[in-house]
Amino acid sequence: MKTAELLNYTRDQWVAGSGQRAAIASAIDGSLVATTGSGGIDFGAMLVHARNVGGPALRKLTFHDRARIIKGRGLAILSAKEELYALNIATGATRKDGWIDIEGGAGTLLSFSSKGRRELPDAHVLLDGDLEPLSKGGSFVGQHIYTPLQGAAVHINAFNFPVWGMLEKLAPTLLAGMPAIVKPASSTAYLCEAAFRIMIDTGLLPDGAVQLIVGGVGDLFDHLIGQDVVSFTGSATTALKLKSHPVVLRESVKFVAEQDSLNASLLGPDAAPGTPEFDLFVTEVVTEMTVKAGQKCTAIRRAMAPAAHLDALEAAIAARLASVAGDMGALVSTSQRDDVRGQINKLTAAGARIVSGDPAAHVGPDGGAYMQPILLRADDPWAADAVHDVEAFGPVATIMPYRDLADAIALANRGMGSLALSLFTNDPAAARDFIQGASAFHGRMLVINRDNAAESTGHGSPLPVLVHGGPGRAGGSEEMGGVRGVKHYMQRTAIQSTPAMIAAIAQQYIPGGPKRFVNGHPFRKHMRELHIGDTLRTAARTVSIADIEHFAGFTGDNFYAHMDEEAAKASPIFAGRVAHGYLILSFAAGLFVDPDPGPVLANTGLENLRFLTPLYPGDSMRVELTVRSKALKTDDTGVVRWAVEIFNQKDELVATYDLLTENLP
Ligand code: NAP
Repeated sequence: MKTAELLNYTRDQWVAGSGQRAAIASAIDGSLVATTGSGGIDFGAMLVHARNVGGPALRKLTFHDRARIIKGRGLAILSAKEELYALNIATGATRKDGWIDIEGGAGTLLSFSSKGRRELPDAHVLLDGDLEPLSKGGSFVGQHIYTPLQGAAVHINAFNFPVWGMLEKLAPTLLAGMPAIVKPASSTAYLCEAAFRIMIDTGLLPDGAVQLIVGGVGDLFDHLIGQDVVSFTGSATTALKLKSHPVVLRESVKFVAEQDSLNASLLGPDAAPGTPEFDLFVTEVVTEMTVKAGQKCTAIRRAMAPAAHLDALEAAIAARLASVAGDMGALVSTSQRDDVRGQINKLTAAGARIVSGDPAAHVGPDGGAYMQPILLRADDPWAADAVHDVEAFGPVATIMPYRDLADAIALANRGMGSLALSLFTNDPAAARDFIQGASAFHGRMLVINRDNAAESTGHGSPLPVLVHGGPGRAGGSEEMGGVRGVKHYMQRTAIQSTPAMIAAIAQQYIPGGPKRFVNGHPFRKHMRELHIGDTLRTAARTVSIADIEHFAGFTGDNFYAHMDEEAAKASPIFAGRVAHGYLILSFAAGLFVDPDPGPVLANTGLENLRFLTPLYPGDSMRVELTVRSKALKTDDTGVVRWAVEIFNQKDELVATYDLLTENLP
């Protein structure tokens, strides 16, 4: 492989760092893969460029525009994936390991793109919660909103997933509308740089939206301001150093930390040898030890089992390791392997003993960073503090016994905060007690049994739609988790004003806000002809006792409140028989629907339905149907969200809901 001279991407230019360059060696045989350096880079100017050029350009786009860009970048990575797989080899990763990094990374972009288009508005502002009434007359209300932070997001990534690690942070950041400066770990920066280059070559990103530093970050932290965010993944030691930087503290720079954690997996009290859960547990522990040579922040480091089953567990894991160890890749570097060996020494010094594998065994080609997987056993886990505290970031796990569920919970929590925990049990009561006892210490927990194992995504896989992170030792932060992850790059602000002002700010109709009563039926209009606030006011119809009885007979819904005058009167809610809620909805549709084929293709659902005032026989009802928001789904279809408000003859609100329709653009 040709040695690559890695370049920084600063202020929309590829730039070689000046001065001394660091050498990156192949994990396979120690040969020189790349050189890297960021000498001479003006880091302060990079931040200014992100804030002044990238940020404004991204904020001009809506969430949906940005979601489409993210999708384009994901597809570009997928179409150039073989180029990345070729580089992946030198990191020591197998093709299977690389799949998680490369295709998992691209998949994360695609997932955020589709979440963004489904769950975020085609607008610049994201609402948080409902309108808060603040006055009797309704003219003064409150609404929380999210808008993008106006600084730069500095992403500092760990070496183990150079592509995924970059993309899982970029997706929510760019979707939020914030520019990013990416700093990959040096030892695998060549793979990150290649993926970054593919994204730049798409031409989809506005200037200043992303920049790359290959090498040290120099004085970058000295130039941070309160609108910036640092999102860090790596060791607890580096995290502590960076989050206690005086400028981070002084400026209250938001700091997201994903750091090491001593993740546990537990064999349930019911999962004796011979049960499917026992076998599944053995497989999972071995998978977590060997995938990516155990260099995963979420890998199982502590495997806990009922004391009576520990011998059987040890034998089963050792046998399985012997059969799969040959398929395992290398660690990222020989220095990482030295580090892992040093950590194993700390574990054995604390009382754990090696029961499978030899850390010093020579494996693979000379110069390579291979090692055998190492299984340790701690028979007294309360006496061996190090097994809950020392992370050997390689193919290393410790098995340990627990006495009962309370002991297991205490041992799991002894890790003082983990990213992921798995529990192998077929006993719902054990699962309930364990999760309730341990969830405060864990970011993600899986309960695996015979019914879900085949479809389980596994202990060690963070997913874009679920939160990744954990309390305490794990960093005390969260990332991903779908739209939750986007909000880390936005500011929540409480806005107080009239409903009309709030509607203008939020770029959507808000109940109580201004309506525009339009001529012509909105169902005859394409999405582009509909405007937020356009309202159809229908004629009124009276609801009779015959209507109610007909509906009851037709549907079989003879609930007392509709059919039994005495009982209805006796209830604390009604003054007599009332119309069915479903009858009101059906009559509402009858009032506002325009029947002929046209730009409205289908009703795809109702949301937020509330029945507010009973409708009695003889009352009348009418509907106001208002365009609340609209968003394109594809080039050919979109979704219109309509606010439906049903009033009685006294203009009291009978019912409200959001109607969703699929429309032609
Ligand atoms: P690390 O040594 O802490 O490095 C992490 C990142 O910080 C690298 O990009 C590194 O760059 C950078 N860095 C180091 N010192 C810095 C400084 N003074 N200023 C700015 N940046 C600095 O961790 P690692 O060895 O790469 O990764 C392994 C650790 O990460 C393990 O402990 C693992 O558990 C943890 N990890 C956690 C997660 C998670 O999501 N929670 C994921 C993966 C890994 P250089 O490489 O250039 O030094």
